[in-house]
Amino acid sequence: MIGSTASGSDRVPTLQWNARVNSSKAKNPVATVPGSDKIMLENKVGMIFGVANKRSIAWACADACSKQGAKMAFTYQGERLKENVEKLAGELPDSLVLPCDVTNQAEVDSAFEAVGRKYGKLDFLIHSIAFAPREALEGEFVTTTREAFLSALEISAFSLTQLALGASLLMKEGGSIVTMSYYGAEKVVMNYNVMGVAKAALEASTRYLAADLGKQNIRVNAISAGPINTLSARGVKNMGSLLTYVGERSPLKRNVKASEVGNTALFLVSDLASGITGETIYVDCGYNIMGV
Ligand code: NDP
Repeated sequence: MIGSTASGSDRVPTLQWNARVNSSKAKNPVATVPGSDKIMLENKVGMIFGVANKRSIAWACADACSKQGAKMAFTYQGERLKENVEKLAGELPDSLVLPCDVTNQAEVDSAFEAVGRKYGKLDFLIHSIAFAPREALEGEFVTTTREAFLSALEISAFSLTQLALGASLLMKEGGSIVTMSYYGAEKVVMNYNVMGVAKAALEASTRYLAADLGKQNIRVNAISAGPINTLSARGVKNMGSLLTYVGERSPLKRNVKASEVGNTALFLVSDLASGITGETIYVDCGYNIMGV
C-alpha cells in the first residue's frame, strides 16, 4: 500500500509498510523507502523527454525522481525551449541538457551517445512528448489531412519505439520506460481527434515494446493522465470546458495534478514496480471508471 502522510499531494508518498532495504544478496531486490536509510532512485540515471516549462508533466516526473536521488538528462526541441530547459535542469545536481527533436534521427542518436559518455548507463526514460497541428485538434476527425495524421503519429507514437531502441542499448542492467497517454485513446473525446488515434498507437506500442524488451529486464508502461492545463493541452480546442467537465464527474471531484502523475512515474521507474510491464495505468482521479 502506498499512502501519503502529507496533507498536500505535492509531497512524495511515503510507504506505509516496513520494507526491506535493497541488498546485493537479495534475489528480488525490494525498493527502498523514503524515510529509511536509502532512497528510491539512488545511483539511477534517467532521460526525460518533453520538458517545455515548469507546468510540463515531464518536469513533474523529473521533480519527483530528483527528490528520490535520480540524476537526469533532459532534452529540448529547438532553440526556443533551450533556455527554459537549461534553467530548470540547472536546479538539479549533475544534470545534462541536450537538443533532441525526435523527427531528427541524428539528434536522437547524439542524445543517447552523450548520456552514455557522461553517465555510462541509463536506468529509466520518460517519454512525455506529443504533437499534432492545431487545426487537427478541432472540428471533425474525418477532415484530418494525411500530413497532420503522419506527423501526429510520428512524433506522438513512433517516437516511443525510436527512443526505446536507443535506451535499450544503454540499459545494461535492465530499466524502465514510461510514456504519457490519455483517455482519448479508447473513447471519443471531442476535438482530441488524431491525437486520440496516436495515443491508441502509443498504448499498443507500449505492449509490443514490453514484450520485446522484457527479456532484457526493461519494463515499458504508460500512464493515462487526466487532463492538465499545460502548453500542449491548450492546443486542444475547448480544453477549459473539458477540465471542468472531468473535474465535476470524476470520483475524486477534481482534476489530477501534474505532481500526482510525476509520483506515479517515480513509482513505475523504481524497483517497487518491478513486476509491472506493458500496462496503461490511469492517473485521472478515477474519471475512466464512470459510466452513467
Ligand atoms: P507540454 O507542452 O509541456 O510537453 C509536450 C512536449 O513535447 C514539449 O516539450 C514539446 O516541445 C515536445 N515535443 C513536441 N514535438 C516534439 C518533437 N518533434 N521532438 C521532441 N519533443 C517534442 O505538454 P504536456 O506536459 O501536457 O504533455 C506531455 C505528454 O503528456 C504528451 O504526450 C501529452 O499528450 C500527454 N498528456 C497530456 C495531458 C494533458 O492534459 N496535459 C493528459 C494526458 C496525456 P515543443 O513545445 O517544442 O513542441
